[in-house]
Amino acid sequence: MGDSWEDQQGAGAPKLNVGAKPFVFNPGARSFTPGGGGGGGGASTEEVTAQMASASIAELPVSSNSAMEEDEEGDDENDPLWQAVFKMAGGDREKTEKMLEDPDSLMQYPEIRALLEGGGRGSTAAAMDTEEPSKKVEPPTPIATAAAAASSSSSSSSSSSKTPAGSSPMAAAAEEDGGAAGMVELQDEDPREHLNLVFIGHVDAGKSTMSGQLLYLTGQVDKRTIERFEKEAKQLNRESWFLAFIMDTNEEERAKGKTVEVGRAHFETETKRYTIMDAPGHKNYVPNMIAGAVQADVGVLVISARRGEFETGFERGGQTREHALLAKTLGVRYLVVVINKMDDPTVKWSKDRFDECVSKLKPFLKSCGYAPKKDVKFIPVSGLMGDNLQKPVAASTCPWWEGLYKTAEHNTAEPTLISCLDALHIEGREPSAPLRIPVLDRYHDRGTISLGKVESGSVKVGQKVMVMPTKNLYEVQAILINDLPVRSAKPGENVKVKLGGAGLEDIQKGFVLCTAGKPCHAATRFECQLALVDLLEHRPIFSPGYNCVAHLHTAEEEVTVVDLLTIEDRKTGEVKKRPRFARQGNVITCRMRTAREVCCEAFKDVPQLGRLTLRDEGKTIAIGKILAVLPSKSK
Ligand code: GDP
Repeated sequence: MGDSWEDQQGAGAPKLNVGAKPFVFNPGARSFTPGGGGGGGGASTEEVTAQMASASIAELPVSSNSAMEEDEEGDDENDPLWQAVFKMAGGDREKTEKMLEDPDSLMQYPEIRALLEGGGRGSTAAAMDTEEPSKKVEPPTPIATAAAAASSSSSSSSSSSKTPAGSSPMAAAAEEDGGAAGMVELQDEDPREHLNLVFIGHVDAGKSTMSGQLLYLTGQVDKRTIERFEKEAKQLNRESWFLAFIMDTNEEERAKGKTVEVGRAHFETETKRYTIMDAPGHKNYVPNMIAGAVQADVGVLVISARRGEFETGFERGGQTREHALLAKTLGVRYLVVVINKMDDPTVKWSKDRFDECVSKLKPFLKSCGYAPKKDVKFIPVSGLMGDNLQKPVAASTCPWWEGLYKTAEHNTAEPTLISCLDALHIEGREPSAPLRIPVLDRYHDRGTISLGKVESGSVKVGQKVMVMPTKNLYEVQAILINDLPVRSAKPGENVKVKLGGAGLEDIQKGFVLCTAGKPCHAATRFECQLALVDLLEHRPIFSPGYNCVAHLHTAEEEVTVVDLLTIEDRKTGEVKKRPRFARQGNVITCRMRTAREVCCEAFKDVPQLGRLTLRDEGKTIAIGKILAVLPSKSK
């Protein structure tokens, strides 16, 4: 294997599942969470907000109290939604308005949902709907969340039902594109570099708290919201968890204190823009972690220094190992290891404890393929207190840190997590390369919107893109970055792209948007190199015929091993040809086939589309990369 795991990494690879539904953080959006929704059964926050958005919730008078107050003439009363609610309220006007103020409750009524899903408003929304009649509303619409949040928090009358500004940004963008009285201006792209961060590490290491603290420190969450969370945390007898509430997106998670879904949020500094993905640490949620890491450029590996917790998370079968390993395979190029909870009474900013954690982690991270001297940085922090996140810890609290970072002892000359991240640069982002956007998800919002990260190349409004593997061509009608309509997007951006003429069924998770005429490969056979990291106890032999699930960028496909080509003895480096079988710990090359065509590339050509993770019965059994894409045999 040698240094093959240490190749340049970009970002991108396998999979996503429910947890990957993007969540645009906005405290205002919380009010749209129906009680008990979320991780388990029932409609999730995102689903509900999706429904609401597609129904142009932002245009609803519900979200615009002041608009309603001003609307004494009763314009809204001609609105079908108003009328429906009025009917449900038994003809009581006051009650109607009260009900309209609480969209969560409203969405529980099937007739309201049906009305909204049917795009029942005869106003601007319908006029803007240039696409085919609306199909069944699908998943998340962060656009919606933002729109809903914007409208719910808006006190201006601009979100009244008739203004495009009150519709979803995608609709507004599309409208602008269509030239119909556009009111939202397309933005030029923000020149600051964009980084996707994934927080990984064992459950309770402090990932949510740290993410929440970062948002707070960078001004994404106001004091009042924090105070509200503090109060709510107190009521749940979990006072120290209030920062985690910022990232934990539903009641169920709060009650359990676990981050089940991958939350997403944005913050920015003078030099960079960040999307943070807070990956769940619990063992059952590894697929969600993959979903977060698949798009990440930088992994923040959170390690608890608290006595006993470091040992559990790292030494005794915790998730630290699997997460770090997966992150590397999934293309996380840099790892910033934050040794957290340094304020804890069992740690007290002890240099010995910090050194102990670092010295145990280093050899392990090396074995995962990171070059500890180049790719990995270590910083002692307290997520809870905020020390060394944005501001350096006081010398009186931690006298030894200054000496270490000033000499770049742990690979960073920056004192804090934020300054360290700001100093990172992701190389190899080539705006003029062929476009590749693996589809992470898609939904309907007056047209089909595809979500994903621009892994290579750039995308522009008006451009024709080819969707692989179907080879269908669509025009890009609108692009959103962080819910703002933009003219173009460069590599590294998370985008939502509206594809003119595409139906929901035309765009699937795992498809890839490509430059027309320069598509990626779509194949059913490929040759790959795999490290068999953890075979199932009852399936300890990896041989031709073995089938499992491959996670490739955002795709998830059943694969079957066709041939084993070579097997390498990791100790001696000796390579044997044509082995009959392989076992855990072996590094092999093999041929695999899928039942359906899957978008892929050789790792050397496009690393983001050339990595894969094999999972069997919910466990990661192998990680690897595609060496060559093979021509399809008869299917
Ligand atoms: P996650 O599961 O990794 O997201 O962990 P959480 O952020 O939910 O935190 C788990 C527990 O550790 C909570 O009780 C937090 O209050 C606590 N915690 C998190 N960060 C710190 C820290 O920096 N110092 C101390 N003392 N406790 C922390």
